[in-house]
Amino acid sequence: MTQETYDVLVVGGGPSGATAAHDLALAGKRVAMLDRAGRVKPCGGAIPPRAIRDFEIPDHLIVAKINNAQIVSPKRRRVDMPVETGYVGMVDRCEFDEWLRERAAGAGAEWIRGTSKDLERDPDGTAVITYDPKDGTGTQRLRAKMVIIANGARSELAMQAIPGQAHPKCVYAYHEIVKLPESGFDGQRCDVIYDGRTSPDFYAWIFPHGDTASIGTGSAQKGFSLRAATAAVRAENGLADAETLRREGAPIPLKPLKKWDNGRDVVLAGDSSGVVAPASGEGIYYAMLGGRLAAEAVQLALATNKASALKTARKRFMKEHGTVFLILGIMQFFWYRNDWVRERFVKMCMDKDVQRLTWEAYMNKKIVRKDPIAHVKIFFKDTAHLLGLTRA
Ligand SMILES: Cc1cc2nc3c(=O)[nH]c(=O)nc-3n(C[C@H](O)[C@H](O)[C@H](O)COP(=O)(O)OP(=O)(O)OC[C@H]3O[C@@H](n4cnc5c(N)ncnc54)[C@H](O)[C@@H]3O)c2cc1C
Repeated sequence: MTQETYDVLVVGGGPSGATAAHDLALAGKRVAMLDRAGRVKPCGGAIPPRAIRDFEIPDHLIVAKINNAQIVSPKRRRVDMPVETGYVGMVDRCEFDEWLRERAAGAGAEWIRGTSKDLERDPDGTAVITYDPKDGTGTQRLRAKMVIIANGARSELAMQAIPGQAHPKCVYAYHEIVKLPESGFDGQRCDVIYDGRTSPDFYAWIFPHGDTASIGTGSAQKGFSLRAATAAVRAENGLADAETLRREGAPIPLKPLKKWDNGRDVVLAGDSSGVVAPASGEGIYYAMLGGRLAAEAVQLALATNKASALKTARKRFMKEHGTVFLILGIMQFFWYRNDWVRERFVKMCMDKDVQRLTWEAYMNKKIVRKDPIAHVKIFFKDTAHLLGLTRA
């Protein structure tokens, strides 16, 4: 008996995979979404208004609305960056991801709980993903005309499906979810801490989520104790004794892979394709967009019978966001090197033009081109700060 063949199998039901599965089901495709289930993704949960708008995230999933980011320097200069219009949304990944998966299933995607193993081929060449079902009934197989791999960072399945490239460079991030005290804590402010003691090459953070908060840090340096650094952030902010609800960590890939498709029937999306923004570590919006673009690419490939259409996912993503990723990569390289430059970086954040352009770029995911004078001013201020021509 021949096994049924899905139009598309999506491996991974995080923001990327669930978005792809939802879009494909709405488009009338026969789609399955395989997710291993049972583990909450470690994540600060900050999302920009563009994500809320484009992916129709309902208000009840936004557990906090942030109207200010406080940037903290090694010498404890504290710079407030108020959000002038709108807010940064905070989601709890436990509810957020489950809701996205339910939405995909509600649109008609078949939601299968299990862990993928390998990509194999049937004798007729059709892709088969083997997996271990959650209920322990032994290895099964899923046949599909197209496969979207969106099972997160450092995906071995992605490496197997598209050989010849290595996992992208990662920052390892760790956080603790703590219960917040009933008073004395600003639940609408994010703290972003630039200090070599709590991260030698990235940053540490406190992101409020209603009655809890994500407190954590990241670093690519092997041997740096993320736990000790997080403990230091908690102690400094009076949260050493707050109840710890979860402790967890995960890698953040900071460079888009060169190849997202195998030229035949597989395309990557989200963290599996390496798309988290350097410097900020923001990945949810980019993962959802990657899922959407992968869904559109497989639909085009199916409709035209041309596997070359799979390339459009990466092409379209990089056209829209490649420049921002490049700029953020350069920023991370220059500004996150040592405390001397970090001090200057935080001082630069006092500048109103820097604040306005940073927020506009973050909130709407567009480089603001309509204000060239502000860009020129920032360029000269940037250079002066970097050369130490201003007093820190
Ligand atoms: C500590 C930390 C803090 C972060 N903070 C933020 C933040 O504040 N804002 C932001 O925008 N980004 C943040 N990020 C990045 C963000 O979490 C990711 O970029 C985003 O989750 C990527 O979504 P994804 O769907 O590609 O992958 P994931 O969210 O990792 O989802 C992958 C899915 O695949 C499933 N899966 C995994 N392996 C298998 C398998 N073998 N078989 C079947 N299913 C499988 C998992 O269950 C999961 O549901 C943070 C990351 C970390 C680690």
